[in-house]
Amino acid sequence: MHERGMLIVLSGPSGVGKGTVRQAMLAGDYRDFHYSVSMTTRKMRPGEVDGVDYYFRTKAEFENEIATGGMLEYAKYVDNYYGTPLKYVNETLDSGRDVLLEIEVKGAMQVREKCPDGVFIFLTPPDLGELKQRLTNRGTDDAATIDKRIKTAAEEIVMMENYDYAVVNDEVPLAVQRIERIIESEHLRVPRV
Ligand code: 5GP
Repeated sequence: MHERGMLIVLSGPSGVGKGTVRQAMLAGDYRDFHYSVSMTTRKMRPGEVDGVDYYFRTKAEFENEIATGGMLEYAKYVDNYYGTPLKYVNETLDSGRDVLLEIEVKGAMQVREKCPDGVFIFLTPPDLGELKQRLTNRGTDDAATIDKRIKTAAEEIVMMENYDYAVVNDEVPLAVQRIERIIESEHLRVPRV
């Protein structure tokens, strides 16, 4: 009888480099997790392989999966469906192995509802850390120094509050290292009874 595996959800705002970090994690030595290949209706890009990068499916096929309860979560992103097939995640966790999802924020919030025991990691752009600092120092800081770009980042901070960890993606190898440490630490948690 295995202990159930851990569900690790890597998410964050678009353009932060989630895919790059995920690929670096898969290419690295630390492979103590299984990546859940997502399903999508978007067109395959050159170099992508069906079943490796995504399960590339038609809209009808995807909608059929939704209707038959086959998706753990799904979201529409830039006119295409993206989602996590439920079966692989369940089977892998049941066999005692960890599963990594790399998904956008709407999907991550659905997973949070369904799997509160998961570990939710929010990848942030480097300037978000700076913003956090500035907001912390509010009052002492001049309001005019907070420009439009930082306003957008503020919305991302609100999203961040729904996660367990925030990892700055300043350099990919560093971000990977931080995530690996989180996973290791989570495994050392004393179980709650
Ligand atoms: P891309 O088209 O660049 O491969 O991915 C676009 C966005 O979809 C990225 O933000 C990626 O994290 C997200 N994504 C990939 N797979 C899934 C999934 O299974 N579910 C959700 N909700 N988002 C996903």
